[in-house]
Amino acid sequence: AIATAQTAQDERLVVAVRVRPSLEAAERCIEVISGGSLLYDDGSKNRPRQYSYDHVFRENDTQEQVYKTTTAPLVRDVLSGFNAAVFAYGATGSGKTHTMLGPVPRKKPASSDRAPPTAASGFEPDVSSQDIGLMVRAIEDIFAHIESVEEEGACKVSISYLEIYNELIRDLLNPGGPLELREDNRGQRITVAGLSEITTSSRKEVVGLLLKGNKARTMEPTAANQTSSRSHALLSITVQTRTPLGTKQGRLFLTDLAGSERAKKTKNRGKRLQEGAHINRSLLALGNCINALSGGARYVNYRDSKLTRLLKEALSGRCKTVMIAHVAPESKHRDETKNTLVYADRAN
Ligand code: ADP
Ligand code: MG
Repeated sequence: AIATAQTAQDERLVVAVRVRPSLEAAERCIEVISGGSLLYDDGSKNRPRQYSYDHVFRENDTQEQVYKTTTAPLVRDVLSGFNAAVFAYGATGSGKTHTMLGPVPRKKPASSDRAPPTAASGFEPDVSSQDIGLMVRAIEDIFAHIESVEEEGACKVSISYLEIYNELIRDLLNPGGPLELREDNRGQRITVAGLSEITTSSRKEVVGLLLKGNKARTMEPTAANQTSSRSHALLSITVQTRTPLGTKQGRLFLTDLAGSERAKKTKNRGKRLQEGAHINRSLLALGNCINALSGGARYVNYRDSKLTRLLKEALSGRCKTVMIAHVAPESKHRDETKNTLVYADRAN
């Protein structure tokens, strides 16, 4: 088992599935049978089908376990000057934001919407929570390493947080109009013009910034979920280290992807149908890139969506990628669960 874990850490692409706890007493379509496999019941008389991945997290696995298994190894790489990416994939309500951010304070009632966020309005982040997500854990881990090994001032850590909604990029740390992607002459480096880069080492400030940014994400109610998230949220943590030979830079991208549910199920019309098309296009483009990388392809097409263009530097070269596919265990989500298992299987 130890050897397997070691191998998984060295792999270019790691695919995990996380099953969220059941939110109600209901019939289930998923049974986790080991740390790497699960059974899926399609509701027919056929025997449940087994799917295997690098890791399968069951309902009571903790945020810390998920962090240690998926993201901690990438943080080591980033500190050494390499890029890496973690994706949370899955339908709306499957637990992506829980994994990435942690428990999100409940929305305030409409009457207090204009009130500034205070503890009384229920928007004070619980920074001590055991349930805090991967984004904050990664930032803390990076600071802990820097404090333990590096000389003072040798490292600089900055974060940016953006969303891609309908192929438009918005700054979640400083919400405003859409921002443009810029490429250098050879198309090697891609940046977002005018995006805020914030330097901070306070846990409370980081959690506050991320929750505030999450709240600024574009939400559109759909028939599938009242607060369906139709945008991709992308946190980037950049670590620059001064060395005798110059500056080395590593970057970790942590992405809370838009809900992967199909447009037809959410009864989308008009604007939302278009959103669905954009979302499916970028998730398809991402799947194609990851699939090409896992197959060791020489040529990978990043150009099909803003998501993949932005992530090019984290998906190419010797960078490592972790896909955490999220599923709901209740039978009523059986179709979305199947789609997610197949998407993850294809990436695997
Ligand atoms: P998504 O971002 O994929 O739409 P959420 O992260 O908002 O889904 O999760 C949907 C609901 O399930 C939320 O109420 C969330 O708190 C809960 N939830 C999801 N995953 C877990 C988990 N691992 N443990 C406890 N609650 C969870
Ligand atoms: Mg979400």
